[in-house]
Amino acid sequence: MRATVLYAPGDVRFEERDAPKITAPTDAIVRLSATCVCGSDLWPYRGLNPVPRPTPMGHEYCGIVEEVGRAITSVRPGQFVIGSFFASDNTCPHCLAGYQTSCQHREPVGGAQAPLLRVPLADGTLVATPEVPPDDLVPGLLAASDVLGTGWFAAVAADVKPGKTVAVVGDGAVGLLGVLSAKQMGAGRIIAMSRHEPRQKLAREFGATDVVTERGDAGVARIKELTRGVGADSVLECVGTAESMRQAIQSTRPGGAVGFVGVPHGVQLDGQELFYTHVRLHGGPAPVRRFLPELIGLVWSRTIEPGKVFDLTLPLEKVAEGYRAMDERRAIKALLRP
Ligand SMILES: [Zn+2]
Repeated sequence: MRATVLYAPGDVRFEERDAPKITAPTDAIVRLSATCVCGSDLWPYRGLNPVPRPTPMGHEYCGIVEEVGRAITSVRPGQFVIGSFFASDNTCPHCLAGYQTSCQHREPVGGAQAPLLRVPLADGTLVATPEVPPDDLVPGLLAASDVLGTGWFAAVAADVKPGKTVAVVGDGAVGLLGVLSAKQMGAGRIIAMSRHEPRQKLAREFGATDVVTERGDAGVARIKELTRGVGADSVLECVGTAESMRQAIQSTRPGGAVGFVGVPHGVQLDGQELFYTHVRLHGGPAPVRRFLPELIGLVWSRTIEPGKVFDLTLPLEKVAEGYRAMDERRAIKALLRP
């Protein structure tokens, strides 16, 4: 098969690789209906994370089960399934507590920008849809694999509640789906922080009531102004830089919560400063598996349309163009069709 490999910053190749095989009785092989480029794929693409060796790329996936190992009981060939970027047994204490991305037996799922994918711990990891979906539902189901699940976790971690005021830092796909999640959870007011017109428009479609274009201290001041000097009850931090984290903490009212899901790059917190904010922090790699059944249900019933974040669709072999378009912010998120 041909699949995506990152050789060095800016050097994405679509090249011949061995097709994945069942290597453990708990594996499944999935033939992907769609995959995509993640914002986190851009860190090594931009040279901000090292690329020590040619690396198969991609960790967002949905598709049809092709083959299962002999220990698998919960999914079978022919079913349409969705899974998350960490495989998890879904039975250990951390999984049972809802933190499947900290599973005691977790394994990263990689190499999903390909026609075929091996998913370890398939019984715990994969969730099947009621039947094979119509094609127009595939982007939304793919979104559930990571970006929607991550935006949803940001909102859960930030303790979004009906009627409350929510601010979202970051206008990438995760931030935009954080807006959608907050709306779905009944937030009264949702302030999206974005200076890009097409993203502001999508944020409003997803439920944003206000848009703030300022950043840093000016962004914090604007949130304070919009909340009569109080700050937001819940803030979703969906970027992962020192500036965005600081902006999130300072935009939160005392007693409020920050849900942080941007992978931190250079974030340092000052204990003294944090102490006096009275802000709760919760975040980490989103335990998407916890939310998959509910999110699949919301997509299946067409209650939400998270697939709108894919504003570029390419055949998988054009994957390098997907990276370029996202790197240059010409696209919010690129969907790839094998
Ligand atoms: Zn586990």
